[in-house]
Amino acid sequence: MRYFENPYDDYKGGEAAIDKDKIFQLIEKYVNQILHNKNYKDGDVWLYIGTSGLAYMFLKLHQSEASKVFPDSLQHARVYIEHAKKYISRKEQDKASFLCGNAGIYAVSSIINYEMKNFCGFNDDKKQFLAGSQICKRIVYNSYGSDEILFGRAGYLSGIYWINQNAQNPEGINDIITEICNIMIESGYDYSNRNELSFPLMYECYGDRYLGAAHGICAILHMLLESPLFDGSLEQLDNTQKSIKTCVDMYLETQSQDGNFPCVIEDAGKDEHTLVHWCHGGPGSIYLFGKAYLIFKDEKYLDAAIKIGELVWEKGLLKKGPGICHGVAGNGYVFLILYRLTNDQKYLYRANCFADFLTNEIFVKHARNPDHPLSLYEGVAGAVCYLLDLLEPQKASFPFMDIFERKY
Ligand SMILES: [Zn+2]
Repeated sequence: MRYFENPYDDYKGGEAAIDKDKIFQLIEKYVNQILHNKNYKDGDVWLYIGTSGLAYMFLKLHQSEASKVFPDSLQHARVYIEHAKKYISRKEQDKASFLCGNAGIYAVSSIINYEMKNFCGFNDDKKQFLAGSQICKRIVYNSYGSDEILFGRAGYLSGIYWINQNAQNPEGINDIITEICNIMIESGYDYSNRNELSFPLMYECYGDRYLGAAHGICAILHMLLESPLFDGSLEQLDNTQKSIKTCVDMYLETQSQDGNFPCVIEDAGKDEHTLVHWCHGGPGSIYLFGKAYLIFKDEKYLDAAIKIGELVWEKGLLKKGPGICHGVAGNGYVFLILYRLTNDQKYLYRANCFADFLTNEIFVKHARNPDHPLSLYEGVAGAVCYLLDLLEPQKASFPFMDIFERKY
């Protein structure tokens, strides 16, 4: 079994009670674990597993209500981002990579400088971030996948959106959104045509046609839905909008009876899919369907999201640790998103159960220690982000995948 049996009773009505003191204690415990570790490898700098991810967590802490309890958060964020910048990659392709590359490091650094009111530093970082946009304009710029969210254009777009949200649409950023979207669309058409696939747009990463949030089409489609392509009236869709919507609908069709989604296109049609992660499977798809629901107002997208919620309630307490990529906190985010979409207290209750499980004896004793136990995507730094969002659920959003705010 990849997951622990869910030991909690389901929601029985009333207002969901959040034990704020307990959550604060857990945040404090995780933050201290991070601060006490001084053994960072020089190369571990990416948002996904490295020091820039820790800087992101401290930045989020600084921007949250909990900042009163952790007054030095912004200073810590600065120390971690300086480490990341010191060991930054010199490879050209890494300039465009977001979660696993330099673009993510410069994006986070820019907002740390912005929060410190160091606008010269902000502009320098923004310039370094924008250097990646030139690389993004090549249809293929790395050998694994130039469109997905970890190193591809979807990740770069998520960075643009995030900078815009945090620095009030700074100059020079918006101009490139449509250009990058157009290249991503061309890349998807081209790949689908060459391989005679039924999805109008399709992509490949590491030689596979992934569907989930990491590596797959679902985060690529999500970033396209966030763009100005879907601004204004959508009564009459143009051909590009139709292609993107058709892909969303075809992906939705692959949802299995239990609410999950296949990892790769070849697994579509199977009765069951084993992975219930943000990276692969239903939990990462909720951002695409949540966004599609907000744009097209079609209940079928919300229904798909609710089914994902039922799946996660049953099979989401993962043994792989506390992280947001393939761990308990990443799956807990499903409930926070559903809470914001529906305002139903049931989801807040469930989100609180997933946070509580992080201190449950079963989890503490038997969960596996991830490869990078303190990191943003695999470790406790991601869990801290989740706990902070549970304290302020009305503005909760998975890192770099907010579906509610305007991005340009
Ligand atoms: Zn994962």
